[in-house]
Amino acid sequence: MLTQNLKAQIRSLVELQTIDSEIYALRYEKESKPKEISLLEAAFEEKKQSLSSIEKESLDLQKKRKDIELELGGKEESIKKLQTQLYQLKTNKEYQTMLKEIGDTKADASVIEDKAIQVLEQIDKIKIEIEKEKQNLQGEEKLLNEQKQNIENRIKGIDDRMAQLEVQRKQITPGLDPKILAQYERILFNRDGLAIVNVNNDSCQGCNLHVPPQVINLIKMYERIVICEACNRILYIENEPR
Ligand SMILES: [Zn+2]
Repeated sequence: MLTQNLKAQIRSLVELQTIDSEIYALRYEKESKPKEISLLEAAFEEKKQSLSSIEKESLDLQKKRKDIELELGGKEESIKKLQTQLYQLKTNKEYQTMLKEIGDTKADASVIEDKAIQVLEQIDKIKIEIEKEKQNLQGEEKLLNEQKQNIENRIKGIDDRMAQLEVQRKQITPGLDPKILAQYERILFNRDGLAIVNVNNDSCQGCNLHVPPQVINLIKMYERIVICEACNRILYIENEPR
């Protein structure tokens, strides 16, 4: 009678283990979710950074453009001044010198103008780049929100399934000897969610240790709970004729 009872209890523990294995896997998955979200957010932040560095580059170019315009304005001012002075000069030599100075200043101004054109071209290019990056980022943000929503939905799914499993658990536990249940739960907690393991091909399926024939006989006798020497898990043998 006692033997039969233990055999039935072992069968219940195996059922309980199936439920608990799923609970442990779900709990593990749920714990990984916040990290998953923060990785997605960090990747998005990095993409935002790349936009702000292009925007910074654009501001630098605007500043460069202003400087060049000021410099150009200065040169144009000088040319005007020199041209006014030109008519006040008395000697041909002075006149020739002044003409040369005006020519040099005009040449300088023309170099600056070329620079200004280059900068304007760069500004146009970077404007397009910024627009592209902004659109890109909008798409990325939409994707991020979708991914986050999917994760939230999965968490909700995990919670629902865990609640179901807890109900199933409560249908099994009242039939168990409280001492056996306590022992099972202690092993479950200490052994990463695996408390009862099958002996297959004479080895423990929890740690692969060889299980000697006398221990196998002991398991088949159902007189007491048999524990694996190496991993301390409860051993059982599947497909035993009842
Ligand atoms: Zn073992």
